[in-house]
Amino acid sequence: MDYRSIFQDAVDQLHAEKRYRVFANLERIVGKFPRAIHRSGGAAREVTVWCSNDYLGMGQNETVISALCDAACKMGSGAGGTRNISGTNHPLVELEHELADLHGKEAALVFTSGFISNEASISTIARLLPNCLILSDELNHSSMIEGVKRSGSEKKIFRHNDLEHLEELLRAADPQRAKLIVFESVYSMDGDIAPIEAIADLADKYGAMTYIDEVHAVGMYGPRGGGITDRDGLADRIDIIEGTLAKAFGALGGYITGSRTVIDAVRSYAPGFIFTTALPPAIAAAATTSIRHLKESQEERSLHQRQAQATKKALTEAGMPVMQSETHIVPLHVGDPELCKKASDRLLDVHGIYIQPINYPTVPRGTERLRITPSPFHDDQLIGELCNALKEVWYALGIPFAAGSNEDPIGSDRIVKLTVPKSGG
Ligand SMILES: *Cc1c(COP(=O)(O)O)cnc(C)c1O
Repeated sequence: MDYRSIFQDAVDQLHAEKRYRVFANLERIVGKFPRAIHRSGGAAREVTVWCSNDYLGMGQNETVISALCDAACKMGSGAGGTRNISGTNHPLVELEHELADLHGKEAALVFTSGFISNEASISTIARLLPNCLILSDELNHSSMIEGVKRSGSEKKIFRHNDLEHLEELLRAADPQRAKLIVFESVYSMDGDIAPIEAIADLADKYGAMTYIDEVHAVGMYGPRGGGITDRDGLADRIDIIEGTLAKAFGALGGYITGSRTVIDAVRSYAPGFIFTTALPPAIAAAATTSIRHLKESQEERSLHQRQAQATKKALTEAGMPVMQSETHIVPLHVGDPELCKKASDRLLDVHGIYIQPINYPTVPRGTERLRITPSPFHDDQLIGELCNALKEVWYALGIPFAAGSNEDPIGSDRIVKLTVPKSGG
């Protein structure tokens, strides 16, 4: 058996499909967000990052960093074991209180990542429900899909945000049967939002439980940063709200919140919770500080929305193919994996701007894109620089501008010296 060639073939396959992943070597710089040092081929230089999920820059917030340092100095680096073996470190207890309060729920449970929280919670909840039928949105995140698979339950996939299809599936199921609807609030690749209230209405009508992933909304939406359910006053309509501490809160870890009983059951039955070392106290303390800050402060949220709108407007005016998005996420359509990668490479090499290419299987084939995530720290000048860089790249690589746009690259004096011949007219 030639084991090695099997793995080589698997990787070669990705190269052939032009979707082999390359990670940029970046070093973030506290105080200079969104700037970072990029290292490549022995050289190092500063670049602007436009695709971070540290949406509000909280990972570099001074009070968050000092909470992390204080806790590390007092309590050390690691948690020392699973919570079962080593007990729960006190900052983790505080963090779970903070999270339950954030979503107005009785209890919360923290996991080592958002991925694990979805995988462990969905699988455990569905496994505990006898003969459970899971109804899952077709665009759900990989971590939710893994949870659905691991549960061993029967599943039905409903078309993305399609209430009629969801109702059709609910209606077809035995009224007595246990049902779990799993979906997200903000879908992070398109930036659209689920019809949460209508889904909760359907859940009531057909007696289903509801599980929502608010990973791309917590910290950023709602008067206290509790996500879209907070913004729309719907938290009490959803049974389990899941979130991450790693994106807008700028730390690490994932969690679920819900009734004391459900949380206790997941705590007691989920292997992905029980058999792994707890989050370090310093990370828990940093997360708690970040959540507390964002419960009070509106500044980050309003500036975030402002800069996201300004980015969309500027890119649209520049003729870029901005995909429709209701949120802070700004996807730019490319539609080809190789061009997408080339556009990303050229942005970095020529313009010192980092935006990771998003290809299949993260998004459907033919919808490859650059996914831009403006933060409160991407000021108007950076937006202007981004626009000019993107226009140059689109022109240089012959990527189509938005249909009907009047963009005339030849007439623009902002195009930098081309190193790649222009394709087409
Ligand atoms: C990133 C992400 C997760 C996983 O969260 P991590 O804390 O990064 O593991 C879960 N759900 C969605 C929708 C995500 O985008």
